[in-house]
Order: sequence, then C-alpha cells, then structure tokens
Amino acid sequence: MANRVPAAAIQQYSQEHLREVLNTAGRRLTPQREKVLSLFQNLGPGHHLTADDVHHHLKQAGNKVSLATVYRSLKLLVAMRLLDEGEWQEGLRCYELRQGGGKVHHHMVCMRCDHTEEFVSEVITAASRDVSKVTGFELTEVRLILRGICRRCRQRSKAAASTLS
Ligand SMILES: [Zn+2]
Ligand SMILES: [Zn+2]
Repeated sequence: MANRVPAAAIQQYSQEHLREVLNTAGRRLTPQREKVLSLFQNLGPGHHLTADDVHHHLKQAGNKVSLATVYRSLKLLVAMRLLDEGEWQEGLRCYELRQGGGKVHHHMVCMRCDHTEEFVSEVITAASRDVSKVTGFELTEVRLILRGICRRCRQRSKAAASTLS
C-alpha cells in the first residue's frame, strides 16, 4: 500500500489553492492539515493511504508531525469532504482524495497484500437508487468495498503449493 513519493513532490502544490479550499470550508489552515492534504493532492486520485502511510511520507519529507496529529487531520479533512475514508479490513482505514464531479467509484481489496483496484459500476449505482427508493432513504453515499485475494497472491500460493508437492 505504501506508494512511494519523492520528497520533492510534497513541495509542488499551490499553497493558494489549499488556503482557498480550507478557508471556504471555514477552517483554519494549520500547517499540519495543509501538509496532509497536499500529500494526497500531489499523489492524485487513486492513491489509498493509511494514517501510518501518511505519517511515514511526511516524516520522509522531513516534517515533524506526530501520528496523533495525522489521525486528527485526516478525520477533519474527511469531515470537510476533502478526503474519503473506507475500512479496507477490520481496523485498517484507508484515505484518498475525494474525487469531484460526483464520480462514484468502488474498491476491490486484497486481504493478503492490500492491493487495491478501483472500479465503477452503473449497476451498483442503479441498485442503490432502487433500494433507497424502496426504503425511503435519501441516498448520501454509495461506496462498496469488496474483499478477496488478488491475482498475484493467488499465483504466489499456487507456486508455493507446487513446490511443496
Ligand atoms: Zn479509491
Ligand atoms: Zn494480493
């Protein structure tokens, strides 16, 4: 899961843009929150990081931020709808940049190596709308996490089995 980020990349973002986003959301732009958000912005959509990953990246780039601060910043950025979060596995939360334009995507997660594939599905969207209609819910979020064993892990265990026999 740890996507490697060159330390230099962390500097390449528009401070002005971030400030605007955070000010619009009515929150104070603390350097820590800015650093956490800009890390995701530099990586771009489709990168899924745990709090530990974020902490690791920031430390690598020379930022002294505690893990507790990272957790707090992530929680806040989710509340501000700048990041999305999902429970990849029990007790393992992943965060990613929220994608604009109402684009809904889902995740297939490998239980062994955390490899993640994103996918979109009109069928799931339509089914969610049907269910919300029937139950009288106003639909606010459609996010599905499917779990399984990825191709590479399956091939690895097949190879291991054949060397044993
Ligand atoms: Zn995603
Ligand atoms: Zn795997």
